[in-house]
Amino acid sequence: MKSISKQFAVIGLGRFGSSVCRELSDSGAEVLAVDINEARVNAVSNITNNAIVANCSNEETAQELKLDEYDMVMVAIGSDVNASILTTLVVKELGAKNVWVKANDKFHAKILQKIGADHVILPERDMGVRVARKMLDRRVFDFHDIGSGLAISEIVIALKNMGKKLGDVSMCKDADMKVLAIKRGPEIIDSPDYNTVLEMGDILFIVGPHSAMAHRMKSM
Ligand code: ATP
Repeated sequence: MKSISKQFAVIGLGRFGSSVCRELSDSGAEVLAVDINEARVNAVSNITNNAIVANCSNEETAQELKLDEYDMVMVAIGSDVNASILTTLVVKELGAKNVWVKANDKFHAKILQKIGADHVILPERDMGVRVARKMLDRRVFDFHDIGSGLAISEIVIALKNMGKKLGDVSMCKDADMKVLAIKRGPEIIDSPDYNTVLEMGDILFIVGPHSAMAHRMKSM
């Protein structure tokens, strides 16, 4: 398996945290998994051999774990909002550069942003948006909110656009939309130019404003 040089720490091993932990580990990354609950730590011991019982809301503990040295820290504590906020604060004050935090609702998310969380995830909301996009348009394979009002969509081109140049498809001409890549069978066409002729089955990876994406995708 290809190993990933980045080091990750996941704090809180509920369903969300342990699933993040498993995916990172399966991808070959080194993961420190932490929870105050021993049973939860034991449950991930087959996923990572670096799983420990600790309370990360405690400054000394966070310091001992050197959480500031990880490339990314995920705080996946949901039901205990106080612990989530305190842990985020402690890890940020320690100097961790890239702290991602799971929030329960928009108020929780707002507090996390104010105290310096680098990326806040609202799993139910984000998954709801993605599922709705797929329900509305079966050509949409995936839809990700990437923050700052932007989204990335993975969409297969409509038959009407087959044989057209990318630059002749109205959505692709919009200045605020960018086609990052085209997946054509096993091939990836990176940063395609306007003269690229679209073929049947081409899948486009597009980035643009979240609000406009759904409407404009109809022209794809
Ligand atoms: P889900 O299971 O959907 O992810 P959730 O986010 O509500 O839901 P919880 O079941 O609350 O998840 O899991 C959060 C985990 O975080 C728990 O296992 C809990 O023991 C752990 N936790 C809470 N406070 C701390 C802390 N200060 N330091 C480390 N782990 C903590």
